[in-house]
Amino acid sequence: MNLDSLSKLQEDFTKHNVPRTDYHMHTKWTDGAHSVNTIHEAAIARGLTQVLFSEHARAVSESWFYKFAEEVHALPKEKCRALVGVETRIKDFDGTLDCVKSVFSQCELVLASVHRFPDGKGGVRSFEEVSKKEAEEIELRLAMAALDNPCVQVLAHPFGMCYKRYDVIPSEASIRELIKKAAKTGVAFEINAYYHPDPWKFIKWCREMGARISLGSDAHNFEEVGNVVRILEGKKAIWKR
Ligand SMILES: [Zn+2]
Ligand SMILES: [Zn+2]
Repeated sequence: MNLDSLSKLQEDFTKHNVPRTDYHMHTKWTDGAHSVNTIHEAAIARGLTQVLFSEHARAVSESWFYKFAEEVHALPKEKCRALVGVETRIKDFDGTLDCVKSVFSQCELVLASVHRFPDGKGGVRSFEEVSKKEAEEIELRLAMAALDNPCVQVLAHPFGMCYKRYDVIPSEASIRELIKKAAKTGVAFEINAYYHPDPWKFIKWCREMGARISLGSDAHNFEEVGNVVRILEGKKAIWKR
């Protein structure tokens, strides 16, 4: 997919005309509760017109991924177009992704996320051994590195580890540094309904710096589909899983 539809999201929508999209949803193929079909039906019921199934995948996921992609592409397109995506983990400070090109080639969009912190030896550090202060630094470095990876089109839940795992509010300087680089490299900065406490502030900064925006609910069941839209419309409070 070209990124035009994401670029459009930067335009001046307000809470009264939020784009009817959700580009971050999971299904039973990985850790979601419901099938591709059920999630798609929920998207239609919520009035969404375009969604991305952003399944988790790793280098070992090749065997099932094409079946998942086929299932998504076979969905009816009239009311809500369904796209295939992958949410993949940023593995190191070079921005390497824990996935393979044969998966990316089946995707309309590739999302990169910080989920764990690398130990520098190919493994990961335990969450406890990383201090709050370090968490912000490490998460920023990993995310910055991923923005240089040409496979990446969306940076998923930026600073999500800080907000949810470490209860750290990243500094405005760190957030702005990341958005500035996203604008430069053309990677969309995800506004994530689950991780971000103040999504409109992020949108404002993305617009100021010319970064693409992607709206994602990180839905893991049908009830969470479209949460990002409802939150931006002011119809739903910031939610917790
Ligand atoms: Zn994630
Ligand atoms: Zn996710």
